[in-house]
Amino acid sequence: MQKEFINQLSTLLSSPKKCVIFPHKNPDGDALGSTLALRHFLQKKGHDCQVISPNEYPKFLAWMPGQENILCFNKEEMMCRKHIEEADLFFTLDFNALGRIAPIDQWIEKADTTVVMIDHHEAPQDYATLMYSDPSLGSTCEMVYNVLTALDAKGITQDIATCIYTGIMTDSGSFRFSSTTAKTHRVVAHLLDSGIDHSKIHQHIYDSYRFERLQLLGLGLKNLSRVEKLQAVYMHLSQAELDACDFQKGDTEGFVNYGLSLEGVKLAVIMVENKQEEIIKMSFRSKGDFDVNTFARKHFNGGGHVNAAGGMSTLSLTETKEKLHQIILQYSPNLQ
Ligand code: 5GP
Ligand code: MN
Repeated sequence: MQKEFINQLSTLLSSPKKCVIFPHKNPDGDALGSTLALRHFLQKKGHDCQVISPNEYPKFLAWMPGQENILCFNKEEMMCRKHIEEADLFFTLDFNALGRIAPIDQWIEKADTTVVMIDHHEAPQDYATLMYSDPSLGSTCEMVYNVLTALDAKGITQDIATCIYTGIMTDSGSFRFSSTTAKTHRVVAHLLDSGIDHSKIHQHIYDSYRFERLQLLGLGLKNLSRVEKLQAVYMHLSQAELDACDFQKGDTEGFVNYGLSLEGVKLAVIMVENKQEEIIKMSFRSKGDFDVNTFARKHFNGGGHVNAAGGMSTLSLTETKEKLHQIILQYSPNLQ
């Protein structure tokens, strides 16, 4: 992390500020973990902070310390706009393109307020006043840890550690992705020393399925197809299948990884129909040097990281599947 970033951030925080902290739409463990950790820290330092999420987050995150104070823009727009108008400082965490918080982006652009970005995705957009961007790090939570400990070496409380651990664990696939370093483990060791119950955090996230969610996974696995002769698989879930399993936000989180668990497979994709938004939401996962960030950016209006990215399609589910299949064939040499 650049010293200059910390110096400038310290200056910004040298007097009490009204802050609004934004995670991206459909926040995951890293987005919520990083925003909540930062809020706990800043509140303790005498700042007034509000986390505003573009929309709701899944139930398996609804136990995190401080989550009860989050405002959702899609449900409490007036209250959120008041906070945004009155803020001295915005933090955008775990995303680097303002479109990821639409429709809040228009209020940020209007506000002319200082924006601090902390994020680990590739190719940051140029909207922040102060930016800490490092795509080599596995999670925004690890970056927030770096920031908080640089500001105050003794500033990691148990609640902060719980939030940061959650984001590091979820974004690293429980410490198995290649972005997990010795330094990541040293950070985690410090978090454990701060008194967190890591086993309970794991249970909250991974052992909290409803029966219907497991059945939905079964439907997804039944729909798994392999592209002939290539190390690529994809699965889909239609709105009807989601409805049959009483779909709730976050239910399909992690499903795409089952495709990647097949021996030799380099690319796994899931397509989930969303009739309300009239889109097919897509998740891409890869192993090795098959770059799904570029793949998602180029073909499905998305982005992310080399081995984990997301995107969307406005075609029908059947057409999206066909389009994906044809595009995968173009990448045959890389998917042998
Ligand atoms: P997931 O597939 O778990 O939703 O997301 C995987 C990664 O891709 C995450 O880092 C997430 O922030 C990013 N991502 C997911 N959807 C989109 C999208 O529509 N656009 C962009 N730019 N990134 C996305
Ligand atoms: Mn992240």
